[in-house]
Amino acid sequence: MKVIVAGAGYAGTLAANRLAKKAPGAEITVVNPRPEFVERVRLHQRIAGTGRAATPLAEMLRAGIRTRQAAVEKIGDGCVMLDGGETLDFNYLVLAVGSTLAPLPGTVPVGTWEGAGQARAALAALPAGAAVTVVGAGPTGIETAAEIAHARPGLTVRLVGRDFAASLSAKARARVRTGLERLNVTVLDDTVTEVRDDGEVLLGSGGRLASDLALWAVIGAVPDLAARSGLEVDERGRALVDEYLRSTGDPRIVVAGDCAAVPGSRMSCQTAEPQGAHAADTVARMIQGRPLKPYSVDYVATCISLGRRDGVIQPSHRDDSPRRRFLAGRAAAMTKEGVVRGARFSARTGIGATGLPGSK
Ligand SMILES: Cc1cc2nc3c(=O)[nH]c(=O)nc-3n(C[C@H](O)[C@H](O)[C@H](O)COP(=O)(O)OP(=O)(O)OC[C@H]3O[C@@H](n4cnc5c(N)ncnc54)[C@H](O)[C@@H]3O)c2cc1C
Repeated sequence: MKVIVAGAGYAGTLAANRLAKKAPGAEITVVNPRPEFVERVRLHQRIAGTGRAATPLAEMLRAGIRTRQAAVEKIGDGCVMLDGGETLDFNYLVLAVGSTLAPLPGTVPVGTWEGAGQARAALAALPAGAAVTVVGAGPTGIETAAEIAHARPGLTVRLVGRDFAASLSAKARARVRTGLERLNVTVLDDTVTEVRDDGEVLLGSGGRLASDLALWAVIGAVPDLAARSGLEVDERGRALVDEYLRSTGDPRIVVAGDCAAVPGSRMSCQTAEPQGAHAADTVARMIQGRPLKPYSVDYVATCISLGRRDGVIQPSHRDDSPRRRFLAGRAAAMTKEGVVRGARFSARTGIGATGLPGSK
């Protein structure tokens, strides 16, 4: 049986490694544009120069799993077309191409490897006193602003966005705000409508900010591969799936992670890894002719780092709604670091749904 895994992020890497254990006879090929596994949850560290975010795929994938450094251009009837023109046949496909960003012109996206590299170089070139504007007040924007302020205290850092830390309880949200204030990050409840050629940032409220670097930290788009290939997608372009994570348009295709439209789930590593595990199990069961098991969403916590020495861990109910209590400070920062290491460990070993990969 030939299985192709498109995308070697958290969902795809975990799925490939798990499938290699569960269906040892399968010929598994992982297709990914880069030869590395990119820890997206560390990209803000790559920008600020406080951590590494890439590991060679050869160190992440089990022996016997093949790799192709390419992007899947289109999914056809039992085959994929790669960007180099090659076609690969499959019996089953795990679609795990993640999410992407649609940055406002004049901003640098922080959620891609390339964007993070560009942001890192631009940041390194800024002199003390320069101003950085981070757009997006969700966890990615908060972590990015905090990491930069922690690493470069001489810079002026602002965070601009609506719905600040919306997934947290009111008290945890207030604690995140305090943590940012301690790092001298200014939080503006506003939108960015334009970034001018001279760097000036125009706000929805009519305000203007002189800025030397604007970073786009709003993750909401997904690659248009599924839509382009004629699969059924939702309004955001995520592939529609049945209860076993199979594409509603083609049951040979199992979808996991940010690019899967699973009701009640949000784009996160905590979602991608259990879905990657479930996708592998679904494929293994289809190969073996065994009954399939439905997937169910099960959240643990939202974890936000505020630089390297502070953070907030917000435990959640299974449906992702926040619990009353939360953890903050250095213990939370250490917990978050453990969670990030756990997520990488899970991807490498194929052990999913342990609760470890939990975080936002
Ligand atoms: C700065 C930052 C901090 C974050 N922090 C957290 C956090 O603390 N906790 C948390 O849970 N989440 C966090 N997230 C979100 C988390 O990173 C994503 O939700 C997670 O990476 C999704 O996993 P995935 O496997 O679906 O996609 P990805 O990890 O994005 O992997 C997708 C892979 O598919 C590849 N690909 C794309 N197109 C193609 C194609 N056409 N063909 C083949 N391969 C392709 C990509 O190159 C990539 O390797 C953070 C994100 C950012 C940017």
